[in-house]
Amino acid sequence: MERIIIIRYCEIHLKGKNRNYFESLLEKNIRKSLSDTECTIERAQSRYLVKNFKEADYPSIKDKLGKVAGIHSLSLGYEVKTDEKEISDCAKFIMKDKQGTFKVETNRADKKYPKNSIEISRDIGGDILESNPMLTVNVTAPEHICNIDLREDGNTYLFADTVKGIGGMPVGSSGKGTIMISGGIDSPVAAFMMAKRGMKLVAVHFHSFPYTGEAAKQKVIDLTKIVSGYAGEIDLHVVPFTHIQEAIHEKCPEEMMITLMRRFMFRIAERISEKVGSQALITGESLGQVASQTIESITTSNAVVKMPVLRPLIGFDKLEIIEISRKIGTYETSILPYEDCCTVFLPKYPLIRPKPERVIEAESKLDVEPLIEEALKNVQVIKLG
Ligand code: ATP
Ligand code: MG
Repeated sequence: MERIIIIRYCEIHLKGKNRNYFESLLEKNIRKSLSDTECTIERAQSRYLVKNFKEADYPSIKDKLGKVAGIHSLSLGYEVKTDEKEISDCAKFIMKDKQGTFKVETNRADKKYPKNSIEISRDIGGDILESNPMLTVNVTAPEHICNIDLREDGNTYLFADTVKGIGGMPVGSSGKGTIMISGGIDSPVAAFMMAKRGMKLVAVHFHSFPYTGEAAKQKVIDLTKIVSGYAGEIDLHVVPFTHIQEAIHEKCPEEMMITLMRRFMFRIAERISEKVGSQALITGESLGQVASQTIESITTSNAVVKMPVLRPLIGFDKLEIIEISRKIGTYETSILPYEDCCTVFLPKYPLIRPKPERVIEAESKLDVEPLIEEALKNVQVIKLG
């Protein structure tokens, strides 16, 4: 009887070559997340098994694996040879300190085993009842479930609890995207959502020193670091944005400030992406949340870039976004007070439905290209994760 952690992934969409690629990437990411933990990792049929770990390390292993995209669920359990006595002894051991109601649930991938899953559940359930008088059977709403999983390779796993992973696809399986990250609640969540779908991330932050100070920058560094717990290493590009804001402020109508700023942000983020091999921009926008997130505003900022702009939160309500940000651990940092580069020059009445012709006309007063080049020359890259 050997102590194991069973790692499961979602296999429905995995076929042929795709499957191999997915599995090796997931294995690499699992190994990386447990690189500081004493343990061994094995690939089994449609599962990974962690073995040779210290029992006391389980909570930290669970936390680490809980951040690996592609993991569907995990269970702490035991592995035995597929043999009736071994299975029965292990099941009795797992259930020995439990009281209340229980049932046995059997999954038999090993079709050579002489009993079917219903017979196994019934017989092992009988053994457990005999050995632990504190338990009674309840098949509809049991307090405890003893799971028995007979694998094709002659081994059986037994476990009594399962925790959910974050699901999704292993990071690295869906290309590379550039998260435009502010110090707010939304963009770190957007970054997490894309990492969960398998994207490697690069981050770009626009900083308006001295209007926004070191603390605001540190906050973005801290948020990016938390996201890197899910996404792996992230290079954070901090772009000086002050001159661009000052130029817009000086030469363009006040109500266009945000619209024009966002067009600069998109252009610069696209240039950085092209340089580092990133294939898409990612923002934390949610439709209608603020003036700059109406469909008209989105259209005017999209118009200046060719890359796809992914907006994983577009259909989410603020409360739904907050719930995810609490789960992934960015909320507490996001709500720390700070000055946002967008609030410094905030107009009293920002345009809610900017007209493309008017935006282009306003922008013609600016030396767009030199401003972009100057900002790009002074980018600071911070490696995180
Ligand atoms: P967030 O909570 O992510 O700050 P928000 O609700 O404040 O979003 P906006 O200020 O309109 O919304 O920003 C929309 C999106 O634009 C952000 O989610 C982010 O992707 C990007 N963005 C805004 N400010 C910056 C910045 N200073 N640097 C980089 N990206 C930014
Ligand atoms: Mg914001």
